[in-house]
Amino acid sequence: MSPALAELERLFPPGRLLHKPGELAPYESDALTAFRARPLAVVLPETHEEVVQAVRWCAHHQIPYVARGSGTSLSGGSLPIEGGLIIGLNRMNKLLRLEPQERIAVVQPGFINLQVSNAAATYGLYYAPDPSSQPVSTIGGNLAFNSGGAHCLKYGMTSNHVLAARVVLPDGETVELGSESLENTGPDWLGLFVGSEGLLGIATEVTLRLLPKPETYHTVLAAYDSLAKAGDAVAAVVASGLLPGAMEIMDSLAIEAAEAAVKAGYPQAARALLIVELEGETPQVEAEARYLDAVIRGSGAYEVRVAQSPEERLKIWKGRKAAFSAVGRLSPDYIVQDGVVPRSKLGQALAEIEQLSARYGLRVANVFHAGDGNLHPLILYNGRLEGELHRAEALAGEILKLCVALGGSITGEHGVGMEKKAYMPEMFAEADLEAMRRIRLALDPLELANRGKMFPGEAPALHFRGAHPLEKAGVISRE
Ligand SMILES: Cc1cc2nc3c(=O)[nH]c(=O)nc-3n(C[C@H](O)[C@H](O)[C@H](O)COP(=O)(O)OP(=O)(O)OC[C@H]3O[C@@H](n4cnc5c(N)ncnc54)[C@H](O)[C@@H]3O)c2cc1C
Repeated sequence: MSPALAELERLFPPGRLLHKPGELAPYESDALTAFRARPLAVVLPETHEEVVQAVRWCAHHQIPYVARGSGTSLSGGSLPIEGGLIIGLNRMNKLLRLEPQERIAVVQPGFINLQVSNAAATYGLYYAPDPSSQPVSTIGGNLAFNSGGAHCLKYGMTSNHVLAARVVLPDGETVELGSESLENTGPDWLGLFVGSEGLLGIATEVTLRLLPKPETYHTVLAAYDSLAKAGDAVAAVVASGLLPGAMEIMDSLAIEAAEAAVKAGYPQAARALLIVELEGETPQVEAEARYLDAVIRGSGAYEVRVAQSPEERLKIWKGRKAAFSAVGRLSPDYIVQDGVVPRSKLGQALAEIEQLSARYGLRVANVFHAGDGNLHPLILYNGRLEGELHRAEALAGEILKLCVALGGSITGEHGVGMEKKAYMPEMFAEADLEAMRRIRLALDPLELANRGKMFPGEAPALHFRGAHPLEKAGVISRE
């Protein structure tokens, strides 16, 4: 054992410092399983002070490190750095405070997203950001990736629900960002930290905003004979002034997969399905529902169904929730992409993706948070066929470039991580990237925190090989 590791062993008791090959194996990759790297060791702190000690140890020995929650990053964000330290935060999983009157919850970073809503339910409250990984992903990971989900259309992403964070900077200093109040003075340092993908420090305590649970829902399923029409319908709903809780699109491949998996009873001949859900207080939802139904009927839908009971609503959502993992039934391999376009460009983006798919001779399934303009094209390929993976990666890159060209972004919610750093110059000029680097260097001159991520550099092309173990177990689904 090296003297540095022996020093770490004195800081972390047995069982909370892992360094044997068998102990490290589970930490070698995240949900982007195409990439693996062997860390030097993993430490499992239980307190803020232990995180400070681990970070100071890294700074002293100039060893790069990665903060890790549940390791469900789809972009290689929590992939270890070869020979670096993993600071695993799963043991810091306590609810520190829940104040229903203030509508806030204060949690440790390893607290699981869904548990926040579970804890708040007694008071008629919940935590709005709902990534599909919410039964397993941590608040620390959500914060670092500014995670989103189906209901972020109405309520905003994680950044709109984090009020404050206690953060250990890469030199070991502790800072408090934000406050329990919505009124802050000075620059929005918390805003800078949220979504910085673990490059600016480690959150050890997070204050979250809670919302009252919606009283009622109105769920509409509309079938279209073209994907572009469904995309345009989303723009029409937004232009009408309505703000649904969720708006999701599935194309024909996704419908086929969902039907095969859970038999949701969707209109089989549809080229695209749109699910729109209103939520809130009953009188308001009832008034908006009449308006929404008129907008949908005028949007070229050839069939419209409105859920008449909670069971029918759940059935509509069941197909949508199952669609992503069910696509695995249609193809041995697929790449999952995560790009964004302005909502008004959805129809155009989907039509162009269809053309790209035909040009590359590869099927693309689309299941996505349409209300956010957040596309999740799944590029189906067979890795055993010569050159097909390469073509799939090229097509994935073209889709990301298309998103940027239409005024969107290379990532909606999965982060840049390792996967997309090569595409950062598509979105940012060299001067923009340099400005970001300078902010990072001001806090972390040795670039120890999550080294090698987000900024363009040597970036191998990445691809998805099979489902995450938790997907296979049916615990989480990919959306
Ligand atoms: C099946 C599936 C479905 C998914 N669906 C969605 C979805 O709908 N929406 C969505 O947004 N994402 C989704 N994801 C991606 C992923 O779940 C989210 O990005 C999630 O926020 C990651 O949380 P985690 O605890 O697993 O973090 P990790 O993967 O462990 O880490 C993610 C990043 O956060 C950093 N980090 C972790 N903890 C801290 C901390 N305390 N302080 C600072 N940095 C930290 C890490 O260094 C890393 O860069 C999905 C993933 C899977 C596998």
